[in-house]
Amino acid sequence: MQTAMGNAQIRVTRQRPIDRAKGNPVPIPEPGSGTVQADAIVAPARTRISRCYKCQGYGHTAHYCREKTDICTYCARQGHRVGDCPNKEKRETCANCHHFGQEDDHSTNDRECPAYKFALEKEIRHTGYTKN
Ligand SMILES: [Zn+2]
Ligand SMILES: [Zn+2]
Ligand SMILES: [Zn+2]
Repeated sequence: MQTAMGNAQIRVTRQRPIDRAKGNPVPIPEPGSGTVQADAIVAPARTRISRCYKCQGYGHTAHYCREKTDICTYCARQGHRVGDCPNKEKRETCANCHHFGQEDDHSTNDRECPAYKFALEKEIRHTGYTKN
């Protein structure tokens, strides 16, 4: 078996992560414009952080949660889950921003949520890489 010296093919990962909030493909460089850079750009978009289904806090799971009661994703109140939310008539409240006393006039699932972005940046800094 002969090694293909001088004929090495560089493969570009042609992944197109979709920004679900907007539904637009995130632009990545075309092949030939650099392979390492392409991956570096894609990486942050793939980063996921765990969100606790109990308190909606980032960076831990319900297993490690210190909250005793559920916190609703929709209205950010304690004691029920979104399926039993009695406040569906009202505007959505971000559970995390509500918790931190920030502007909470958006969905807990909002990708533009400052609490989400903060947690995401912290995760990227912490791990330096992505987590699936
Ligand atoms: Zn929790
Ligand atoms: Zn609720
Ligand atoms: Zn928020």
